[in-house]
Amino acid sequence: MVRNELSVLSHESTGSTTESRPVRTCVGCKERVPASDLLRVVVRDRASAESKIVPDVGHRLPGRGAWLHPVPNCLQSAERRRAFGRALRVSGTVDTSEVVAFVEGRSSDMDQGDRATPVEKNRQQH
Ligand SMILES: [Zn+2]
Repeated sequence: MVRNELSVLSHESTGSTTESRPVRTCVGCKERVPASDLLRVVVRDRASAESKIVPDVGHRLPGRGAWLHPVPNCLQSAERRRAFGRALRVSGTVDTSEVVAFVEGRSSDMDQGDRATPVEKNRQQH
């Protein structure tokens, strides 16, 4: 009665040569996906009262970044939950206008149709 249980301790191969792709969490839908599927956004002007976030298309800008599917749905739910402020450690208002413009431009590029998309700017004023 010899049981060959080789997989009792499943060692994950540590020094693997295959470069594992970085996985990031979308701040909108909280899905974990390869970073290449997401848009990175960073805070450009942290010193001012309103922190402006901008798309970092080349993933090159320094500083803390947040990751987002470049689609209106994820952008809107991130805005609604103020996920950018949390992810980027920003207290106060986050100006997302450049990211909004980027996502809107990108999505209208993609479906090429002349569909009237209702652009609702729900500015929350407190
Ligand atoms: Zn998402």
